[in-house]
Amino acid sequence: MCGIVAYIGPKDAYPILINGLYRLEYRGYDSAGIALLHDKKLSVYKTKGKVSELEEHLQGKNISGNIGIAHTRWATHGEPNDINAHPHSSESEDLAIIHNGIIENYLTLKEELMSRGHKFRSFTDTEVLINLIEDIQNNEKVDLPEAVRIALNQVIGAYAIVVISKHDPDILIAARKGSPLVIGLGKDDFYIASDATPIVEFTKNVVYLDDQELAIIRRNKDLKIKTIKNKDKTPYIQKLEMSLNALEKGGFEHFMLKEIYEQPRSIHDSFRGRLNASKGDVRVGGIIDYETKLINAKRIIIVACGTSWHAGLVGEYLIEDLARIPVEVEYASEFRYRNPVIYEDDVVIAISQSGETADTLAAIELARSKGATILGICNVVGSSIARATDAGTYTHAGPEIGVASTKAFTAQVTVLTLIALRLAKIKGTISTSRFFQIIHELEMIPDLIEKTLKVDPVVKEIAGKYKDVRNFLYLGRGYNFPVALEGALKLKEISYIHAEGYPAAEMKHGPIALIDEEMPVVFIAPNKGMYEKVISNIQEVKARKGKVIAVVTEGDTSVKKLADYCIEIPETEELLVPLVATIPLQLLSYHIAVMRNCNVDQPRNLAKSVTVE
Ligand code: GLU
Repeated sequence: MCGIVAYIGPKDAYPILINGLYRLEYRGYDSAGIALLHDKKLSVYKTKGKVSELEEHLQGKNISGNIGIAHTRWATHGEPNDINAHPHSSESEDLAIIHNGIIENYLTLKEELMSRGHKFRSFTDTEVLINLIEDIQNNEKVDLPEAVRIALNQVIGAYAIVVISKHDPDILIAARKGSPLVIGLGKDDFYIASDATPIVEFTKNVVYLDDQELAIIRRNKDLKIKTIKNKDKTPYIQKLEMSLNALEKGGFEHFMLKEIYEQPRSIHDSFRGRLNASKGDVRVGGIIDYETKLINAKRIIIVACGTSWHAGLVGEYLIEDLARIPVEVEYASEFRYRNPVIYEDDVVIAISQSGETADTLAAIELARSKGATILGICNVVGSSIARATDAGTYTHAGPEIGVASTKAFTAQVTVLTLIALRLAKIKGTISTSRFFQIIHELEMIPDLIEKTLKVDPVVKEIAGKYKDVRNFLYLGRGYNFPVALEGALKLKEISYIHAEGYPAAEMKHGPIALIDEEMPVVFIAPNKGMYEKVISNIQEVKARKGKVIAVVTEGDTSVKKLADYCIEIPETEELLVPLVATIPLQLLSYHIAVMRNCNVDQPRNLAKSVTVE
């Protein structure tokens, strides 16, 4: 997930590119760069940091040229620094590329190229692709578009790319698979970008590339599109009708809603390259060297805050259930100050979306001082936690802009599921058939979430009914207890309605006193696990005239007879239900907050990354 912008035409490219990068900065912002072609010279400028830092870096440099490519990076491979920033030049420096996405088989390709004597400067997957293109150009004596096409046939993964060549100032090659790319058609020029925000002020005529399509963009020529299998396509020109603001949010009213709707893709990105259901393979690259440590650990301690702490709780259920390793989940802020017992053979897993959470960082330092092994699960590559841990894994959810976490949570749960499955497999605590069954279901989760999102109108109607209440209760059992906590937190965060999450059976030990006809109670009640027992808890609420909103499995009949409202989710494995059941709860808090005129993306008193105690 990053920002791509490119230009070819009669105008100066630089102002278009730099303004385009500012527009795209919301997509990712750890480093930025520009390549411009002038006087047969391809100048590549790049730097770690924000677009403003790139602009500063360019003071006094030659920024002329009417063809160029630019990028704002959200690192996946290689920490954010000047060298790993895009554009990446080929070995000869004749070609340069910008790339959004992940080349999954980059290591295999890199080793092959290295065995033929190629040298690399960065740690990125992207540099591998540009060197592969150059290698093909040299060995097969084909032109640039053909070399790009052949190279893309060897690539597994996702990409949106634009390639520029020093030897041809009149051509740009763009292609996509899995990452969006749009081409704006001006009077005598072309604008290319990862979304239409940098383009809209120049032209309303755009062509959206489809997956596995390649665009050959020649100065003063018609746009040519073909598939990477070499089939010609007729460009389909569409009219842009959205405002700039709506465009940034992908047509959604808020970033939070966009991010909720991104979850089929972000979850897929979390397991991309790590899960192969047909081969029965699960591996989480970043922690491979620590697997033995993990399966021999007397105890795993998960430290986190807020939503990440809830993901940690799901992780506890998963790892204990599947891999039979004891897990404790700790609030980082408590752990760091309460003189906890930490052994050298403990493995601490720190979870944080931003990777900058101050309390979690302090908990890591404490655990390190006691000699424990420390792993991290972060979304932001190169963040402080990623650097402070012995090893770890990224969630690859893409930048999360809405302060209330949504897709980062489901990505954390996805990664914890992969870890639990991997440990169970190597420890031998899961049968082969059960393992296959779960990974097959896990692979289907993006589709199931797509289906779940269709409940949006039902959820909106429920939101309208309860938007003015003062309290909410969320109840679930087993795997759905953390889901209840997360549902309540989401509502508090963005709608400012007081909400509590509890294990459903705990209700009798206190919260039941709160129930009257004013009190909505959200039950997570899929037809799995302790379904019958949850039904009894629903009865208890109804007996006290409470209002029941239940998240149920499609086709449910028992809960439907009792609940005031039911939200149906597709059936899946019990341990995967949190990934699906969370979605309607995110939507519920979202709609209630909108109806209460709250600032959904920037709720009061909260910050996206809590870098203070
Ligand atoms: N995988 C590439 C990198 O790490 C591109 C990341 C992006 O989409 O910004 O550099």
